[in-house]
Amino acid sequence: SVTKDDSTPDLKDDNGFKGHDMLAPFTAGWQTTDTNPLIIEKSEGSYVYDINGNKYLDSLAGLWCTALGGNEPRLVAAATAQLNTLPFYHSFWNRTTKPSLDLARDLLETFTARKMAKVFFTNSGSEANDTQVKLVWYYNNALGRPSKKKFIARSKSYHGSTLIAASLSGLPALHQKFDLPAPFVLHTDCPHYWRYHLPGETEEEFSTRLAENLENLILKEGPETIAAFIAEPVMGAGGVIPPPATYFDKVQAVVKKYDILFIADEVICAFGRLGTMFGCEKYNIKPDLVSVAKALSSGYLPIGAVIVSPEIADVIYSQSNKLGSFSHGFTYSGHPVACAVAIEALKIYKERNILDHVNSIAPKFQDGLKAFSDSPIIGEIRGTGLILGTEFANNKSPEDPFPAEWGVGAYFGQKCQENGLLVRVAGDNIMMSPPFIFKPEEVDELISIYGKALKATE
Ligand code: PLP
Repeated sequence: SVTKDDSTPDLKDDNGFKGHDMLAPFTAGWQTTDTNPLIIEKSEGSYVYDINGNKYLDSLAGLWCTALGGNEPRLVAAATAQLNTLPFYHSFWNRTTKPSLDLARDLLETFTARKMAKVFFTNSGSEANDTQVKLVWYYNNALGRPSKKKFIARSKSYHGSTLIAASLSGLPALHQKFDLPAPFVLHTDCPHYWRYHLPGETEEEFSTRLAENLENLILKEGPETIAAFIAEPVMGAGGVIPPPATYFDKVQAVVKKYDILFIADEVICAFGRLGTMFGCEKYNIKPDLVSVAKALSSGYLPIGAVIVSPEIADVIYSQSNKLGSFSHGFTYSGHPVACAVAIEALKIYKERNILDHVNSIAPKFQDGLKAFSDSPIIGEIRGTGLILGTEFANNKSPEDPFPAEWGVGAYFGQKCQENGLLVRVAGDNIMMSPPFIFKPEEVDELISIYGKALKATE
């Protein structure tokens, strides 16, 4: 069946469908955003406005990215100044630009979970994770161990939607109909305690069991074939899943034991979302490689990066003379305008003590929303810092989801939108990641609309 909407008659196609000309990301048929999208025209602080002048509190900060809100003049000024000086030059063949060099330096200074050596620029989180695979393969080839090529990721992870990043991701929708995942990618357990713990199992015991499962997978495949393990510190698009107690300690011990690299996908978590500059600091992760994007430029321009450890950088530098260059890069790797904006964003995070602000507002946000946990239709509300997920469930049980055709999550999301709040809906999961500049009165407004929408849904 096809949704008909006579308010857009000139968009009707030959089949009577209504739709615009764009093939939207994650298209799911004519009934969804393809036919009657919410068209956002303007943003201001934590709010966005549609083309009809309706105002919405944007609880997802765009797509987990506009950390400094919708109209930070310093970011606009940084972009304008760079556009007026040097709108583009590349970073290939020993030519580069000052903003890309400066941003690489600033990123290395900002990442303090361990000493890192180099930064490779991309345009997105997906490209950062694709780059990770090529770095790791090159590294292992350079070390003369060409069989060490497999990646282990986790069920329900999201690492992007290019072929390799989608393969790493652990969400079935990204694999079905695309003949993915690629054969070199394996998936291990999703560390979601509420959903997957055994009766009587503590969080620590759950983490021990998952680390054992990971070790068994490595042993079954052969440790000499496993190159790297990739994980988001807090899983985002899979439903906002913070790690259970002791999880990362145990998993890191296993990968270290078998000389497997640890890749932290910090695309959502970095720069303050969790109340620390990086998720690696919060969970004591000592990664070999890190992916960042999104809040790196507060979402104002597309940019991502891979932060590389000294050990890996050393192999690439020392071996590329013998093996041939590390032939990987994008026209826009280190785009000077995107880098100028990112430099300014990092400066603002520091100057405004963004971590202090996130940590001061996060308890109000977390506690205020978790107070709805008693609702009979909510299975679990979980989160940390300024990221939070709500999962609806029948009888509050992970074993008893609502029938998909009831559309509980979609209905809740629609009620939020009608009341001026944008949330992310994925089935019966609702996700929020407000801007780092979120104000106390905006938390109050969010909680009030959430409460209204929940009442209407119950
Ligand atoms: N990694 C994580 C953890 C993400 O959440 C995302 C996007 O949401 C990506 C990678 C992909 O980033 P992009 O959409 O910029 O390609």
